[in-house]
Amino acid sequence: MSAVFAPAKSHSVIHESLRIAGEKVARDRVIEVRHPYSGELVATVPKAMLEDVKRALRIARDYRSKLTRHDRYRILMKAGEIVAARRDEIARLITLESGLCLKDTQYEVGRASDVMLFAANQALVDDGQVFSCDLTAHGKSRKVYTLKEPLLGAITAITPFNHPLNQVIHKIAPAVATNNRVVLKPSEKTPLAAYLIADILYEAGLPPEMLSVVTGDPAEIADELLTSPDVDLVTFTGGVTIGKYIAAKAVYKRQILELGGNDPIIVMEDADLEEAATLAVSGSYKNSGQRCTAIKRMLVQESVADRFVELLVQKTRALKYGDPFDPAMDMGTVIDEPAAIHFEKVVNEAIAQGAKLLVGNVRCGALYSPTVLDHVRPEMTVVREETFGPVSPVIRFKTLDEAIQIVNGTAYGLSSSLCTNRLDIITRVVQELHVGSVNVREVPGYRLEMTPFGGIKDSGLGYKEGVLEAMKSFCNSKTYSLPW
Ligand code: NAD
Repeated sequence: MSAVFAPAKSHSVIHESLRIAGEKVARDRVIEVRHPYSGELVATVPKAMLEDVKRALRIARDYRSKLTRHDRYRILMKAGEIVAARRDEIARLITLESGLCLKDTQYEVGRASDVMLFAANQALVDDGQVFSCDLTAHGKSRKVYTLKEPLLGAITAITPFNHPLNQVIHKIAPAVATNNRVVLKPSEKTPLAAYLIADILYEAGLPPEMLSVVTGDPAEIADELLTSPDVDLVTFTGGVTIGKYIAAKAVYKRQILELGGNDPIIVMEDADLEEAATLAVSGSYKNSGQRCTAIKRMLVQESVADRFVELLVQKTRALKYGDPFDPAMDMGTVIDEPAAIHFEKVVNEAIAQGAKLLVGNVRCGALYSPTVLDHVRPEMTVVREETFGPVSPVIRFKTLDEAIQIVNGTAYGLSSSLCTNRLDIITRVVQELHVGSVNVREVPGYRLEMTPFGGIKDSGLGYKEGVLEAMKSFCNSKTYSLPW
């Protein structure tokens, strides 16, 4: 670990403005953005007034995009190319606001380019269907056609801090591809990448009416974003508490809610333990453990648990963490000091209840070390609730029945990872886990930006994200029939 609280780099402070249909609007009241590693002020973003939000939503509702499929393809491809060309600079901006290390943020920028590539290509695909009507004895010589149309009203998009660019682009790119209009409210903790991607999209030719970005105090502006008659759909990624607040508030709006996770890796006795431990480490510590699909519980069959834990400890110790701007680091900080203090607290609580600390639990400001806890029991807070940080709690189990019961025993149901080569086990786990995905011999977070993604139970309503699914949910389906 390197020294903390030394000014990491000399950055001039950025003073952001709202983007209301492309217009830059400054406000006297601001929110400060601080670099989590050094605590230094790196930017201010405006606190939008209620009137700003109303204006952004009204413009979005009233605007009717005339962009052809080819236009949308060109805009998204161009924006993706700009992002790819400015990868290092954008990665540094995300590191500055989030404390994520450069390895993580460079990876994130690459993912964001993929999202735009997939959305651009999907804009070219006509997803209409044709149904012949002379299929039964009482049929007719007609055809029913389907047509996907953008929503009449605006889309409200609200995003979390953990992937400041990728969470945002997963909502904007499918909206652009389907000719919708979005008002985005990114996390106040990491708002800078959101403003930057809006500018890149405008530069790539997006009509500014199709995207506004607002930041502010949720207590002042969130309800307007959720309840305004100008809004048809709310797409939200974030924690369960706010997700359920939105579910109750945004009455008669279409709701896409991608909430928290408590994803397990299950390691069976036949597993390649070297591979399992490598997956466990990358699944647990990448992005400082702040992924909805990070591995938050390690369920290991008792007969191989000692060897697995030995490898896990070895690989955890090998991880370099510290100054997020040091390119050699594998992990930077978590989002802020209160988050790190919370991890320390739940880990200490587990130790007091009999868990064994093998590595870590060292905190310095917002820097929290990769931490391995053995002999954790399912009822301990560190695994019963979502621990959104670099903690690896190992739970030992005897039988597959027991493992399945433990996995299904929390409120969450996002994703999962299974290490085995036995088809009978794979079959049971795929069928019996109450989750949105199962990845065999891969981390729970593995996916393409295009494939369906999302959870059930407290992790979400079962409507998926990923470019294809988001495009579907952002459209109204109209049918029309013709007499031939
Ligand atoms: P959060 O729920 O605290 O905040 C998310 C967003 O909601 C922020 O933009 C915040 O300003 C906004 N918000 C705050 N109050 C609001 C209100 N009353 N109405 C509407 N919006 C309001 O989440 P976070 O701490 O930024 O992110 C971490 C959480 O996100 C974790 O639980 C994580 O698992 C989850 N997450 C889920 C997914 C997924 O796809 N399932 C992906 C990433 C993160």
